[in-house]
Amino acid sequence: MKITKITVYQKNLPLSEPYWLSGGRLKFETLDATFIKVETDQGVTGWGEGTPWGHTYLPAHGPGIRSGLQTLAPALLSENPCQSNRIEYVMDKALPGHLYVKAPIDMACLDIHGQISGESLPNLLGGSFDVPTRVMSSISTGSPESMVALIEKYRALGYRGHSVKVGGSNTDLDIARVKAIEQDRREDERILYDVNRAWTRREAAIVMNAVGHLGATFEQPCETTADIAALRRITSSPISIDETLVSLNDMVEIAQNGICEVVNIKINRVGGLTKARRIRDVAIAHGIQIYVMATGGSALADAEAAALAQSIPEEFRLGCWSCQDMLAIDIAPGRGPRSKNGELWIPDTPGLGFVPDESLLGDPTATYSV
Ligand code: MG
Repeated sequence: MKITKITVYQKNLPLSEPYWLSGGRLKFETLDATFIKVETDQGVTGWGEGTPWGHTYLPAHGPGIRSGLQTLAPALLSENPCQSNRIEYVMDKALPGHLYVKAPIDMACLDIHGQISGESLPNLLGGSFDVPTRVMSSISTGSPESMVALIEKYRALGYRGHSVKVGGSNTDLDIARVKAIEQDRREDERILYDVNRAWTRREAAIVMNAVGHLGATFEQPCETTADIAALRRITSSPISIDETLVSLNDMVEIAQNGICEVVNIKINRVGGLTKARRIRDVAIAHGIQIYVMATGGSALADAEAAALAQSIPEEFRLGCWSCQDMLAIDIAPGRGPRSKNGELWIPDTPGLGFVPDESLLGDPTATYSV
């Protein structure tokens, strides 16, 4: 089997409401999404999506995906999409780094492999652990009262997990936010306080030690893994790392040095499912629990993340995210997994199991063919 054609689409995905990241320092209103269709000489077609959360959150850039594909796509034509490690090797040789460019290609190739083998993505990633994945809501930074009210809104929709944005130079306000939300927290509700690197070491130590008795988990409290390692030694709250977990080597370092108790694997950031599954395996081997999330995007991106989540045993799987619920448009109406009662479920259908409505994607921005 050979890849014969790669078609690239660009689509703006506006958010239903503006979104403020931790500390209120970054505002997001529209996501620049890239959709990729990979065709083969056997008539099987796979789809992938790459949607960074803007270009100010992580080193990822919507137009950068399309530029990178100009280099990658010619190298991939005539390759066998079912050979995921070889596809990964070819991409890494043709364009070192630029992981977020590679993730949608890897996704489309696994979609094809799944269709050929008759296996769902979770099965292709090692096997589905047949329990739906808890979806985490995403709670924008605000006053303690407004954040508690927003959690209540999601709770009414069935959500039992919330990723709450805190972080900023006002440590008193962050302490008040955490205390108010923890006081309001229901039994068995899972709350992740996501700082998005917004604290200095001092600010992190002040807040995390002030609420240390509450057992709350804080994600990416500081800029670097070294900063978090230093913080680990002087605080007791569980820590999650996402933004500085990029490579398998990062995961090994985190596990070996006991830097955090939780990781959040973002598929695009680590370069696709083929690389993400190895990070998953190291985390599980070291008793580190896992969130899996897209960096943003449509039902396709959510399905990709939920597929990896469903390949994680329940005792290690903390949750995923459903970015589609925050978008003002839907490029696959009525298709694909949708969060229901705060959970996402990937059915046992071959490959990704659905395609976007191509008529909603506009004209291709590029095509590459043999
Ligand atoms: Mg995060």
